[in-house]
Amino acid sequence: MTQEELFKVLVAHCKEYGFIFPSSEIYDGLAAVYDYGQMGVELKNNIKQYWWNAMTRLNENIVGIDSCIFMHPRIWEASGHVGAFNDPLIDNKDSKKRYRADVLIEDYLAKIEEKMNKEVEKGRKRFGEAFNEEQFRATNPNVLREKAKYDEVHNRYKKAEDANDLAEYKQIIVDCGIVCPISGTCNWTDVRQFNLMFSTSIGSTSEGASTIYLRPETAQGIFVNYLNVQKTGRMKIPFGIAQIGKAFRNEIVARQFIFRMREFEQMEMQFFIKPGTELEWFKKWKEQRMKWHVNLGMGAENYRFHDHEKLAHYANAATDIEFLFPFGFKELEGIHSRTNWDLGRHQQYSGRKIEYFDPEEGVAYTPYVVETSIGVDRMVLAVLSHSYKEEKLENGETRVVLSIPAPLAPVKAAVLPLVKKDGLPELAQKVMDELKYDFNCQYEEKDSIGKRYRRQDAIGTPYCITVDHQSLEDGCVTVRERDTMSQERVKIEDLRALIDKRVNLNNLLRNL
Ligand code: ATP
Repeated sequence: MTQEELFKVLVAHCKEYGFIFPSSEIYDGLAAVYDYGQMGVELKNNIKQYWWNAMTRLNENIVGIDSCIFMHPRIWEASGHVGAFNDPLIDNKDSKKRYRADVLIEDYLAKIEEKMNKEVEKGRKRFGEAFNEEQFRATNPNVLREKAKYDEVHNRYKKAEDANDLAEYKQIIVDCGIVCPISGTCNWTDVRQFNLMFSTSIGSTSEGASTIYLRPETAQGIFVNYLNVQKTGRMKIPFGIAQIGKAFRNEIVARQFIFRMREFEQMEMQFFIKPGTELEWFKKWKEQRMKWHVNLGMGAENYRFHDHEKLAHYANAATDIEFLFPFGFKELEGIHSRTNWDLGRHQQYSGRKIEYFDPEEGVAYTPYVVETSIGVDRMVLAVLSHSYKEEKLENGETRVVLSIPAPLAPVKAAVLPLVKKDGLPELAQKVMDELKYDFNCQYEEKDSIGKRYRRQDAIGTPYCITVDHQSLEDGCVTVRERDTMSQERVKIEDLRALIDKRVNLNNLLRNL
């Protein structure tokens, strides 16, 4: 199966097993908006809890808030979103489809890169042990030809980006012969800027109504509460404020499932520090956040940093943590050293003094900020795409299993009476009552035990507990483990401890 096919299968699996549904499906859906089903919401909540506890419980100097989606419209002028939160868009006149001009060019560049990598792989196969990749890249004529093409387009693109030169974006698209995947033509409109913020009006009468925005990021809710939290929490710098909440962006290109949504959720933490210490904290948070990811056990090789070449005007360092999604390495989290830009702008726009008085040094300053910002939905997609496996079994059958890190699994244990009679359901219910206060458990008595195991594998349940006739006599049950499918007899009173050992979120947190 190619990665593309695998991705389609995953999307279908997410729907079939109650993880993620297209929004408003009975009305034919709403592009780039998705609902979480009964399994998805549990997975999502577990991810949020892992993040929240890692931030606010493991760091005594980080506290949480929950600010509103609606905020004073001036906030978005101060933050620069009204003026500059734009994407360059382009339409194909034949298909009437809309694209992001920068994404069209980046995809074109990625294809050239892919071609070069394919040549390298061919070389590796041909030369075996003796293969020297560096030398091959420097001398192979096919690679060199592609590299020259890549560099030329890349340089033009970066210059156009720096100069915000929309006409040049279009010229690159035309010169590279980039066509619309739907119409197959190069019949493009000019490139225009498009603001990504959704607006609506507030106020009970239309006369008194004024335009407000749905927040495109949660961070500004933290900045405008900086003084409140610092004062009421008697926080001393360095300290952080964490928040999880919805954000909205009118993304031009709706694609890649929950990777790019118009309504999504962010987990952001702004860390307030003394000016001059920001690069040290930036490095610390880079390490800390990577550790949080790798700690899940989804393979350190599936993550990488991508340091920004071009920094936003307010940032003096920025990096992305990228994850290997089925469509390649893409941004999962951003870590930015934002200087005192945001607080400075809010000071200017609100007229309020936003400063910190350092009692030890006797000086006042506007704090600098290092932020960590991760999309909950992208994290859900990372977990699901990494966990989905189709395994060939010894008997020739295939089983679909989601090897979700156990503490994040939606259901931790399934309790299954072998048959629906002879007092087994009653004993199984007792087992449920024993476990349900500690873990999200599912009780299932329909279908053969084999089918029930498969259903639990498909939603990633780490343990299946089967109650059989012998259980009535010896008080033991069979515990089947998801990944190895190994089975063992366990006393009912020992179940809680056995499950807890593997699924307790605190065990993950202790390794951080
Ligand atoms: P991209 O370049 O992919 O559009 P971004 O750089 O605009 O992302 P940020 O503004 O840094 O993203 O937002 C922080 C995080 O929020 C991202 O790392 C991502 O995980 C998440 N995020 C941003 N936009 C979306 C979206 N449309 N859908 C889902 N998650 C998103």
